[in-house]
Amino acid sequence: MVADGGEADADLAVAAARRAFDDGRWSRRSARERQEVLLRLAQLILDNAAELAVLETLDAGKLIADTSAFDIPGSAAILKWYAEIIDKIPGEIPPTGEGDLALVTREPLGVVGAIVPWNYPLETAIWKLAPALVTGNSVVLKPAEDSPLTALRLAELAIQAGLPDGVLNVVPGPGPVVGRALGRHPDVDAITFTGSTAVGRLFMTYAGESTLKPVWLECGGKSANVVFADAADLDRVADGVIAGIFTNQGQVCSANSRLLVQRAVQDALLERVLDRVRGIRPGDPLDPATAMGPLVSVKQAERVRGFIETGRGEGTLLAGGSEVAGSPTAAYVPPTVFGDVAPDAVIAQEEIFGPVLAVTPFDTEEEAIRIANGSRYGLAASLWSDSLARVHRVAPRLRAGTVSVNRVDAIDVAVPFGGFGQSGFGRDLSAHALDQYTGLKTTWIDYR
Ligand code: NAD
Repeated sequence: MVADGGEADADLAVAAARRAFDDGRWSRRSARERQEVLLRLAQLILDNAAELAVLETLDAGKLIADTSAFDIPGSAAILKWYAEIIDKIPGEIPPTGEGDLALVTREPLGVVGAIVPWNYPLETAIWKLAPALVTGNSVVLKPAEDSPLTALRLAELAIQAGLPDGVLNVVPGPGPVVGRALGRHPDVDAITFTGSTAVGRLFMTYAGESTLKPVWLECGGKSANVVFADAADLDRVADGVIAGIFTNQGQVCSANSRLLVQRAVQDALLERVLDRVRGIRPGDPLDPATAMGPLVSVKQAERVRGFIETGRGEGTLLAGGSEVAGSPTAAYVPPTVFGDVAPDAVIAQEEIFGPVLAVTPFDTEEEAIRIANGSRYGLAASLWSDSLARVHRVAPRLRAGTVSVNRVDAIDVAVPFGGFGQSGFGRDLSAHALDQYTGLKTTWIDYR
């Protein structure tokens, strides 16, 4: 049980962050000093990885196999990457007139409010904290209601690493209370948000109604996985289809939830996909051998089951459905596949955020591009083809922040991640993310 913070707690956290920023205990430390503290924090995450992995699994129902192998070590690696890059980014001296010297530097913004979801709780928090802290900002982090534990433990580890008091503040609590308070707070200088498009929209309103603070949004997705008949290795494609939609029980913003397959290979591919689906056994997420766990909550599972009911009227149920035989809680939803789904069907348009795949056949390249782009989201897409020419023709025309070719969900700390359209416009990861947490400052010296 974790106590809910309220608006007063958000105020206290912002005030602490403000004091810390203004007195320079972190913001005016050298890049190298900040680097040392954050490298220590990255190491402490690794030293406490087993505990953090269990906390993440208990909170979100994520597989312990994943939290141990990816979420926790991945979070440490991202923090380390930002700590290591920060003393290697010089400022600029643009050419100006004689007797002038213009210095362009990156300045931290001040107090950053970070609001994150429950599907990758620690990792998403680190996506925000690492570039924000390394550039000298103070942060108030609001974890999702369902997954506050690793954020709280991270704050303890940050103190142990030597991060000064007030620089990182964690306020768990309801989104409409704590999240809203941060979004509207006059003393929060920027918001970084990952979550649903509906709530992202609210943060833009909060900013408009308060101080015009910049808001960086990473929102929902409905990513297309486009398979052309000239992709020769259908077994590899089938593995990609499975990983693309069933990883983390489909609770992935970039989940490949729409499979667009060229009609000539549809039967052969679906046979392979359904064969693999039959082999997935839902089980206890704390058991390292489990390949599929529950969703984050019964509430989320009910939402997903609602979409499955809608899907029964829209496509052909090829696998799964609403029940998992013998499951210990109602939070389990089986891997579910619908065939013959029209591109404008509800289950092909709405982000379900669960293990539900909508399959739509196509005939031509033009049709595939049109269907893939026929979504209000634009976070990611995958494209399978052994034709180099086709890959180069199609990839640029897919409206998505990341196009993975002959694989799914390509991601790396060195590469920007984010979307087009209603998937948002922020870019997490890579050196580009530093732009979200710094302002360019010109100091112009007239030395004549
Ligand atoms: P959500 O939008 O419900 O919640 C996200 C955060 O916003 C939580 O901390 C929540 O407490 C807070 N919040 C909720 N209502 C609020 C309000 N009225 N005012 C202020 N804050 C509020 O999202 P979720 O259900 O936690 O996560 C799933 C969503 O996150 C999906 O849409 C998914 O696509 C998206 N997501 C996107 C990315 C990405 O990088 N693009 C990554 C992961 C998840």
